[in-house]
Amino acid sequence: MKIQKAGYEILTPISEGGVKELQHIERIGRVCYKSEDKITEDGESAKKFVKMLINAHHEAMIEHSTLSVMFTVDRGVSHEMVRHRIASFAQESTRYVNYSKDKFGNEINVIDLRPGIELDRKMSGMSAEVIDAVLKEWEQAMIDAEKHYMRLIELGATAQIARSVLPNSTKTNITITANYREWRNYFRLRTADDAHPQIREVSVPLLMELKERIPVIFDDM
Ligand SMILES: Cc1cc2nc3c(=O)[nH]c(=O)nc-3n(C[C@H](O)[C@H](O)[C@H](O)COP(=O)(O)OP(=O)(O)OC[C@H]3O[C@@H](n4cnc5c(N)ncnc54)[C@H](O)[C@@H]3O)c2cc1C
Repeated sequence: MKIQKAGYEILTPISEGGVKELQHIERIGRVCYKSEDKITEDGESAKKFVKMLINAHHEAMIEHSTLSVMFTVDRGVSHEMVRHRIASFAQESTRYVNYSKDKFGNEINVIDLRPGIELDRKMSGMSAEVIDAVLKEWEQAMIDAEKHYMRLIELGATAQIARSVLPNSTKTNITITANYREWRNYFRLRTADDAHPQIREVSVPLLMELKERIPVIFDDM
């Protein structure tokens, strides 16, 4: 059993300073106002125009954009992610992937729980002894789950049947493709204080990176 960190990788190339992304939205949005003559090549008109769209809640225009991100999270978090109906998904399958095979190291991978505990408002203030005891018990549960998974396979179960004993902590890769409007909705919900700590663990750094790389779109978040 391997414990690994949660994370993300932005799969969509983003232009220098995010200018091309804003210019794409500007080109489309200016059709509404027939103000294409106001477009400037340096991207400054795009910044102003897209800012105006967002301030005016004319967010339908930012739907003309997509961003794909591959997350490494546990299956509890991925289950929350797939509730976002407007997005598109591709996820590592526990039906087709057999973790007992050499290709997968003959072991299950689980997502480290410690960062989630540190982001959990109630648990973050608890003593190191309590947190260590919780982590020790969790780790034992992961080892037990792996043992039962491998035994079910040994007994002849297929991966899709043996998966029934895999824990929520099982690592998964899930790619989300969504337009900027949906990403804004996603970040509003998934970076909030009341969001699950482990979805915040990957969503907050992603939002911070996007704020840096694509101006205007996420500035108000
Ligand atoms: C803190 C938190 C706690 C939660 N707890 C629970 C829980 O206990 N149980 C549970 O089942 N879920 C829970 N959820 C999930 C939640 O109910 C939503 O399914 C999830 O947040 C997706 O939100 P969404 O509908 O805005 O996103 P999307 O499905 O991506 O939709 C985006 C937007 O499109 C519009 N839209 C989409 N579909 C429709 C539609 N059919 N009709 C009208 N407008 C639509 C809405 O404006 C929506 O905001 C929780 C979410 C959060 C953030």
